[in-house]
Amino acid sequence: MTAAYPAEPWRIKMVEPIRTTTRAERESALRAAAYNPCLLRAEDVYIDLFTDSGTNAMSDRQWSAMFRGDESYCGASSFYRLRDTVRAYYGYEHVIPVHQGRGAENILSRCLIRPGHRIPGNMYFTTTRAHQELNGGTFHDVIVDEAHNPADESPFKGNVDITKLTALIREAGADTIPYVCVGAPVNMAGGQPISMECLARVRELTLRHGIKVILDAARAVENAYFVKSREPGWSGRSIAGILRAMCDLTDGATMSAKKDSFANIGGWLGLRDDRLAEQARGLVVLYEGMHTYGGMAGRDMEAVAQGIVESVQEDSIRARIEQVGYLGRRLIDADVPVVRPIGGHAVCLDAHAILPHVPQPLFPAQTLLAELYLHGGIRGVERGIVSAGRDPVTGENRTPALELVRLAIPRRVYTRAHLDAVADAVIALHHARRSIEHGLRFTYEPPHLRFFQARYEQAAIA
Ligand SMILES: *Cc1c(COP(=O)(O)O)cnc(C)c1O
Repeated sequence: MTAAYPAEPWRIKMVEPIRTTTRAERESALRAAAYNPCLLRAEDVYIDLFTDSGTNAMSDRQWSAMFRGDESYCGASSFYRLRDTVRAYYGYEHVIPVHQGRGAENILSRCLIRPGHRIPGNMYFTTTRAHQELNGGTFHDVIVDEAHNPADESPFKGNVDITKLTALIREAGADTIPYVCVGAPVNMAGGQPISMECLARVRELTLRHGIKVILDAARAVENAYFVKSREPGWSGRSIAGILRAMCDLTDGATMSAKKDSFANIGGWLGLRDDRLAEQARGLVVLYEGMHTYGGMAGRDMEAVAQGIVESVQEDSIRARIEQVGYLGRRLIDADVPVVRPIGGHAVCLDAHAILPHVPQPLFPAQTLLAELYLHGGIRGVERGIVSAGRDPVTGENRTPALELVRLAIPRRVYTRAHLDAVADAVIALHHARRSIEHGLRFTYEPPHLRFFQARYEQAAIA
């Protein structure tokens, strides 16, 4: 099968050198990083697929918009440009800028979550759940079962299971559930989308119980693309129209502008409720900055506003999703186990299937991640037992069904030849998988978001 690869709707105006390394150099760099590629120096990485967050190439339009950044402390014109753009494309009346997505999660969680509260969501996200727990809440996964099976080909594996959500509301009581957190698409499931039909059912159910719906909008434009290409009845709508229709089914959104909006930093909290927005503005001045800059420079707000406009262009989002799909299909054609269907922002290697001889307590995905760096100078991120962390009540490791190495593709950064280099390295490593005869164990385990800063040593398989 030949893989589609639409020509990019941009050309390259500026370049940044990257460097290849020898195997010996990578071995010493990885040892110095205690087998955690997060702790490598970026210059020791050849192709960096750690994240698509803040690593995107900005356009000439974004860079030039930055020159008109208004750096006034209060009431900067750049804020109003950002606010009006978010209102136009996402439709939220109140727009509160924050330094990045987790800033919005912190503010929202502090406003809405009290000890004992439960927050249902379609699979957890690392920072989102951490803020829910810091405020005394408990996360409840209500994603469909298919999401936990990498081989399942269902088109909307990010859907909320309405039966699970209904059961939780019945058992816990609606008054213990401040909101449902909807990821669209679902990062930790490998970028799997939620359908409009499902989102509408969530809306209908929660309205009946007086529960809010909050969208994690980091990659909502990618979700809109999947709705347009997969969901019956939506193929004739514009991406911008679908994005707006999604947001219209929610009460608010937390946004990391480092994803869809092509910005290197930034985010916002979008809300409809006047009183909640007042409360959030009161907190943003404590944790982020004035409510008209929220931790961003004026020029950053300009870059985000321009990025939003670019993000919904049909050719732009198509090139983005199809590029990710190209890498995925190269791996599928070579029988490398990956999460299917290929998601919006990343190709995820199924470490359970690739290293079945490494038991989960010895961190198979982290082990595979380290080996991939040694093999090809490529950096991804662990999305398995390490990222899942410990249960705050029992202190035990959570044991997710998905044990993944995520290869996230930054937007407008790498060429097809780079993706071929990644595919070749992954395929070669897959062939050599039986030579990996160890796992890893912690030498240092951080208390929060441990995957970022953990240190490891090699551990023999018993
Ligand atoms: C990145 C991300 C966040 C957090 O945003 P930051 O800008 O990294 O703080 C929240 N949710 C999802 C789904 C994300 O991918």
